[in-house]
Amino acid sequence: MAKFIFVTGGVVSSLGKGISASSLARLMKSRGLAVTCLKCDPYINVDPGTMNPYQHGEVFVTDDGAETDLDLGHYERFLNTDMHHINNITAGQVYDTVIRKERHGDFLGATVQVIPHITDEIKNRFRLVAKGQDIVIVEVGGTVGDIESLPFLEAARQMGIEAGKDNTLYIHVTLVPYIKASEELKTKPTQHSVGKLREIGINPDIIICRADRPISPELRAKISLFCSVHKEAVVDAPDVSSIYEVPLLFQRQGLDEQVLMLLRHRGRGKDLDPWIGVVERMRRATGEVHIALAGKYTEIKDAYKSVHEALVHGGILNDVKVHIRYLDVSSQDADKGLEGVHGILVPGGFGDRGIEGKIQVIRRAREEGIPFLGLCLGLQLAVIEFSRNVLKLQGANSTEFDPRTRYPVIDLLPEQKTVSELGATMRLGSYPCSLKKGSLAAKAYGAASVSERHRHRYEVNNKFRKLLDEGGLQVTGVNPAKNLAEIVELKGHPWFMAVQFHPEFKSRPEAPHPLFTDFIAASLRRAGAAGKEAHAR
Ligand code: GLN
Repeated sequence: MAKFIFVTGGVVSSLGKGISASSLARLMKSRGLAVTCLKCDPYINVDPGTMNPYQHGEVFVTDDGAETDLDLGHYERFLNTDMHHINNITAGQVYDTVIRKERHGDFLGATVQVIPHITDEIKNRFRLVAKGQDIVIVEVGGTVGDIESLPFLEAARQMGIEAGKDNTLYIHVTLVPYIKASEELKTKPTQHSVGKLREIGINPDIIICRADRPISPELRAKISLFCSVHKEAVVDAPDVSSIYEVPLLFQRQGLDEQVLMLLRHRGRGKDLDPWIGVVERMRRATGEVHIALAGKYTEIKDAYKSVHEALVHGGILNDVKVHIRYLDVSSQDADKGLEGVHGILVPGGFGDRGIEGKIQVIRRAREEGIPFLGLCLGLQLAVIEFSRNVLKLQGANSTEFDPRTRYPVIDLLPEQKTVSELGATMRLGSYPCSLKKGSLAAKAYGAASVSERHRHRYEVNNKFRKLLDEGGLQVTGVNPAKNLAEIVELKGHPWFMAVQFHPEFKSRPEAPHPLFTDFIAASLRRAGAAGKEAHAR
């Protein structure tokens, strides 16, 4: 039977609970255990697909086409395994299922209630994920004390009784703030938060303390005493320069030993070397490249989480540090910030804000030979830019932004034109893509066919394919079943590629995505050329 580790958060949100859960998961994997993660989101939305990035950050897409919380991206990146729709549950899904069952008559005679009906449904979903696993790490979204997360915490408490002490573990991630005036770290918020958790019936076994600096042994002793956990079970989690250092930070404090001891499991060996190898290679990186990420949510970094991480991974095999400059494309002169960048990336997006700014940036990349990678909307805009400025199709556009354009170079497929419900109806999840022999993409992947994840409604309009091709913007990757353009490349440019899918979702530190690696390599060449030029001057 699988053992369950519940990770809760205290005091404030955004403490990096997802990173803590993922890091612990990676440590458990290093002990030879089959481990997976599950994120519980207490909101009523069925999934985050229709939420604004300001509300939610990035929507992470799984192979099986689920639109999920961005923490699943962390789980995939740290564990180097695929998550599925069952790895993210929301209050909306749980209530939806229970209400459908009620209408079907499954609870005939009963009053349907949060306890036991909602909590039973939550536990069913915990158990579903546990199949074939040694350990399931369940991260409960929100902060202890929120009304919304109560059913999930109650289900977690009940699991403790049902599965037994040796099979359940509770970890509380909490804030230990530094108070400038008194020049000390304060434990009171942690004490209160643990008190709150106890009211719900959960005694944490381990406390992970997030602070902006290391905590002293005295403070650790104090937290141990007041929160009633072993001193070794108080884990210090100060800010670190790279999230990928966190598993090492935890291991140094013996978190894996602690967890295995409490769960009465010996583990099956111990090998964190592959992870350590990657982290050390990142640390040793000598070169530097500057990449512009031209998006419209630049003030909230979570909106481009996977893109950011994939760019960082792109530096690993090139032994360079990747500096990412967020360009706000909704401002006038969006391309002003391109000074000194070695590569330009235009990420995915929806809606027309910032479109013209992105097009302006793509034009600079095309005309000045700056390495360019377009993702999803980034591809659609590269096609629009090329149609307008090279093919001279004045006013060319996507029907998403101009339904009456004379040149709908990006358009909906007939099946999308009849869609009336917006939730979960895009082209979602993994689709195969055949690569043109000898193309930049085929070389980067080292394959003839690949599978990548999608999340979009609009497609390149095949009526314009021939024109684009003759002009020099060539389709080098297609969806074989539907003959849809999946990749375009610009002839005669040092490195210009745009893809209709989202390669960023499949990049991991232990397996960086080949397109990002190749894009960073091209950017590095540009950086080298720029360096030489400056030297000659
Ligand atoms: N808005 C575009 C579409 O729906 C692009 C989506 C995206 O970039 N993920 O097709």
